[in-house]
Amino acid sequence: PDAPLSGLTGLSAVERARIATPAHSTPDTADGPEGLWERFVSTAGRSPDAVAVTDPADGHTLTYRRLEQAATRYASVLHDAGVRAGDRVIIQVDRSAAEVVAVLAVLRTGACYVPVPQQLAGTWRDEVLRVTGATVAVASADHCRDWPRHMRLVAPWSPDPAPYEETGALAEPHPRAGDSPAYISFTSGTTGTPKGVEIPDRAVIRLAADTGLLRPADDEDPGRRRSMLRMAPLAFDASTLELFHPLLNGDRIAILPPGPASPRAIRAFLRDEEITHAWLTSGIFRLVAQYDAASLGSLRQLLTGGDVVSPDHVRAVLEASPGLWVTNGYGPTENTTFTTVHHVTSADEVGDAVPIGRPIEGTGVLVLDETGRPVPPGVDGELYATGLGLAHGYAGDAERTASAFVTVPWLAGERAYATGDIVRWNEAGELLFRGRRDRQIKVRGHRVELAAIESHIRSWPGVVDADVSAVGDDRTDRAVLASVVGPERSALRRLVPSLTDTFPSYALPGLWCLVPSLPLSRNGKVDTDALAARALTTE
Ligand code: ADP
Repeated sequence: PDAPLSGLTGLSAVERARIATPAHSTPDTADGPEGLWERFVSTAGRSPDAVAVTDPADGHTLTYRRLEQAATRYASVLHDAGVRAGDRVIIQVDRSAAEVVAVLAVLRTGACYVPVPQQLAGTWRDEVLRVTGATVAVASADHCRDWPRHMRLVAPWSPDPAPYEETGALAEPHPRAGDSPAYISFTSGTTGTPKGVEIPDRAVIRLAADTGLLRPADDEDPGRRRSMLRMAPLAFDASTLELFHPLLNGDRIAILPPGPASPRAIRAFLRDEEITHAWLTSGIFRLVAQYDAASLGSLRQLLTGGDVVSPDHVRAVLEASPGLWVTNGYGPTENTTFTTVHHVTSADEVGDAVPIGRPIEGTGVLVLDETGRPVPPGVDGELYATGLGLAHGYAGDAERTASAFVTVPWLAGERAYATGDIVRWNEAGELLFRGRRDRQIKVRGHRVELAAIESHIRSWPGVVDADVSAVGDDRTDRAVLASVVGPERSALRRLVPSLTDTFPSYALPGLWCLVPSLPLSRNGKVDTDALAARALTTE
């Protein structure tokens, strides 16, 4: 159960009114089925011949009709493998049409999908299995060795040869509801064990149902379908936007071939596939903007975020592509992809910082001080999110759920997620991102809890003291620096593999520094700037 937010009593009526207002915009989600599979089927029924997925790497183009058939058949394969409603099914498949089929098929069985990264640290895998109780994984052949023997591994969908295309009886779809768990997405946690964020169908539907989030493909031609770049790893919740916004609106998903993509390759793909909408993390956005000053062609809206967005790069992109919209999308996984967005429609609008904007439909935001009272514009406070996008919580972890998800007594007991992000309102009624309350940072778009790595290093035999910090402000090449006091070099050599087995690769320190003691700044805190300077000059 969620804990009540303490200290939030005694607000004046004016304060309440100001805060309560943004919390209640509601998208038109009532108009249609409550379950994701049912919503997809209803979209597919309206536009069966429209192209749903193009996968140039595999040469597949699936219409909505074909995609629904493929997911239906594949759901029967999962059913035969023992998947039942309420189960959790791991998906570890390269970006492909087969991945889209797997997601939809899992939903059709009434189960919930658990995306995991292609490179999976051992302790993460064990935690994922422990928390989810999953016994079935859709995994391509190269991942078979990642899983214990008792797991049932199901090969990803493939149209040819497709033995299961012929299977006789099809399993019935299991009816889904707004609060059916759709997926569990694992993100880093403060103790080193990942947190499994459980997202219900309702939260995904609210993202796809926001009519103002994505602009039309063509203002003059309302019938023209959008085409959305599919690039984010499934384990990263930007994939929720990339998959479900198109699938619930009858648009096309264009799948970037798997593997790392250079800025040049991304630009070429956007052009060749005539993509109209794309999401790039702020780091990749920067690289694509820097690559050259050419126009982004057919692109109508470029969404970016996941970390602070650079105003200079937004300006450069808009100068090169007049008419484009750049959208700063902000939000934690716990509130399903986007909490707030800000659209920039011309280079002249770009100031010193790109606001994170206003809440999307179906989401409310509160900015509160440490005693739980709302702060006026211009003053920093912590951002709380409310509304339809909220996760159920952390799977199998009631304690963590209760500390992050609270209830707001003066909003009729409404549930809110404490983001840990510090923001402030500007005079225009938009939010500005100011930083973090804790020591979470982003490395290449992934959440990294510095405290978790630090405590692992500190507990290593021979280590007297340790500090883990981020080096480099540049969002594209930020690295984790571990500064250690105490051990012999040989002890460090054993420590590194133990970190590799505990943390995902993006969280591993890229810089190490052995120091006689941790330098302190004048206010008595560890002087991380001095450590960074030392590490960078001795490397
Ligand atoms: P996402 O998929 O959006 O990256 P995560 O749950 O991985 O979601 O990370 C969420 C955190 O990332 C936020 O709490 C915030 O600290 C940071 N973040 C996300 N979007 C932005 C943005 N547009 N500007 C600044 N920080 C952001």
